[in-house]
Amino acid sequence: MNHADYLKYQADVADFYRREGITHLTACAPPVCEACGGEWDRDVEFCMRCGESSESQRAPWFSKTCCDCCGTSIDGDREHAVGFDVKNPVSLIKMYTICSDCAYYTENGRLDDLTVQGVEVTL
Ligand SMILES: [Zn+2]
Ligand SMILES: [Zn+2]
Repeated sequence: MNHADYLKYQADVADFYRREGITHLTACAPPVCEACGGEWDRDVEFCMRCGESSESQRAPWFSKTCCDCCGTSIDGDREHAVGFDVKNPVSLIKMYTICSDCAYYTENGRLDDLTVQGVEVTL
């Protein structure tokens, strides 16, 4: 990723936030149990139907599905994430599928050093 790519990436993410009316994304378990479609218990730890742990379904999976956030279709890890507006946390909670870059970016406010290596050289 070079400097221009990084600027484009940041603009794409900012666009996505604006379009969706959210201010933050955070990795999370799928909305319902993927093994049986059952609901999570109150603390979202176990499936009430089959007993599967939600933790085991939070693991990233390898996919070619487009990232909802930055729109990349390059195959790689995808994760479940929930988007919300920090100023209005209860009103808007949406589920997305995001790539590992976006998962890192949303947690840290930047991309990981390996991805941005090329950027620092270009700067
Ligand atoms: Zn289940
Ligand atoms: Zn992404």
